[in-house]
Amino acid sequence: MSSQKPTRGCLDGICGPSERIMNYLTTIGLEVHVQLKTRSKMFCGCAVEFGAPPNSLTCPTCLGLPGALPAMNHEALRLTVLTGLMLGCEIAPICKFDRKNYFYPDMPKNYQISQYDLPICSKGRVPLYDSAYPKDAQKAIAAPANAVNLVRIHLEEDVGKSFHFETNTGIDFNRAGTPLMEIVTQPEIDSPEEAFAFLTALKQILIHGGVSDADMEKGQLRCDCNISLRLATQVELGAKIEIKNMNSISGVRRALAYEVQRQTAVLERGEELQQETRRWDDDTGQTFVMRRKEMAHDYRYFPDPDLLPVATADLVNDVRSRVPELPQAKRARFIEQYEVSAYDAGVLADDLALASYFETAARGAPRPKTIANWMLNDLQNDLTSASLTIEDSPVPPEALRELIDLIEHGKISGKQGKEVFAEMFASGRSARAIVREKGIEQLSDAAAIEALCDQAIAEHPKPAADFRAGNKASLNFLAGQVMKLSQGRANPALVGEILGRKLQSQPSR
Ligand code: ZN
Ligand code: MN
Repeated sequence: MSSQKPTRGCLDGICGPSERIMNYLTTIGLEVHVQLKTRSKMFCGCAVEFGAPPNSLTCPTCLGLPGALPAMNHEALRLTVLTGLMLGCEIAPICKFDRKNYFYPDMPKNYQISQYDLPICSKGRVPLYDSAYPKDAQKAIAAPANAVNLVRIHLEEDVGKSFHFETNTGIDFNRAGTPLMEIVTQPEIDSPEEAFAFLTALKQILIHGGVSDADMEKGQLRCDCNISLRLATQVELGAKIEIKNMNSISGVRRALAYEVQRQTAVLERGEELQQETRRWDDDTGQTFVMRRKEMAHDYRYFPDPDLLPVATADLVNDVRSRVPELPQAKRARFIEQYEVSAYDAGVLADDLALASYFETAARGAPRPKTIANWMLNDLQNDLTSASLTIEDSPVPPEALRELIDLIEHGKISGKQGKEVFAEMFASGRSARAIVREKGIEQLSDAAAIEALCDQAIAEHPKPAADFRAGNKASLNFLAGQVMKLSQGRANPALVGEILGRKLQSQPSR
């Protein structure tokens, strides 16, 4: 059986020999929870802060005590509308908040305030691009999807956090009531790598908009994945397997790749898959069943009687001016304005700090492409080995541009440039200071080089004559002599040019 659209995510070594899985199509949908970057919580004035002593940021409202009343955080509404504008969503003219009823120890009022049938945003899309895909898979992906469509974005409150000790469990309510935005995709992602690219692209947009720091290690971005496999010839989707609460993008990719492999093996054995919820264990690299085919949830949603519906027109006006240049637009601008490659533009525009370093360094530079090359190779390598971020770079953008200027104006050779760069990185000193101190400034004075060329030709008449007789290789010998006379400082390109000119214009004596 041949598939019309083979599963792209399954690279050899990640989910097994590819011929085994070519007959199945993978369908993935994601639900992403994002903690919004507000100073206070969604329905009370308690501070939003990570790492504070347990239960130090609480009040009757976020503890869920009877009789406490919620009060709307308008900045959270604005940030959600802003996200909707960034992602091209439709913004509902009126949205409302509902109670989602269920019991859980970390939510003592026994309902979560969320949005049911009138979410703030619907539709919209997250554009994908090459460098958002995992590095090792970029070449293997022949036709990357250009976007992932969204179903909706709604606003809700986060719950508390349980800590399990040897014989008891403690609950920290500092997180309870943190504004939480839920972004739901269409089930149209068709590989673990595409899920990776979606999360990477989404995270960058959220950071660019100042909506969230989206730090997954701090739980600011969490993801539930739905994945199903079906035969390529089958129309309806296969049994939906949910993997709960993923907290790293690479973990999402690995968990989904594991599921593709596991579900394929089940189907290959002729067994059936059941709808179930699974848990990912990052250490063993496996998923485990949490619960099977739950009865359809009945959350008994109803409008929260303590919260009025919200008209969004004013919010939209408030945030229009806050819509930033999005990574996608920035990538296009970098290609156009600085003539960097599409790949480099993706890497540079994706990261706010990298982008601003690049634009500072490229200001007034004749060839910004060279700056991008230095940044993404030499500088990034050294930063990585020193465990530094671009913000802590010992070589500021202006200093990098100065070094590249010296090379481009022929003051030092490219090879010397590498050595100077290493010293700049180690000492934080400027390229000029290092070049001066080492006395390595390249000799680019044409008159001085001409004199050296004359000297070399006079001292070695035979190679000079050989060259004129047609032995072009003799030029290299003479150029070597000129370099020697200049103690290695002569600009090699100029030497070659001047020597050639002299030998051609002066007939043998
Ligand atoms: Zn509170
Ligand atoms: Mn939710």
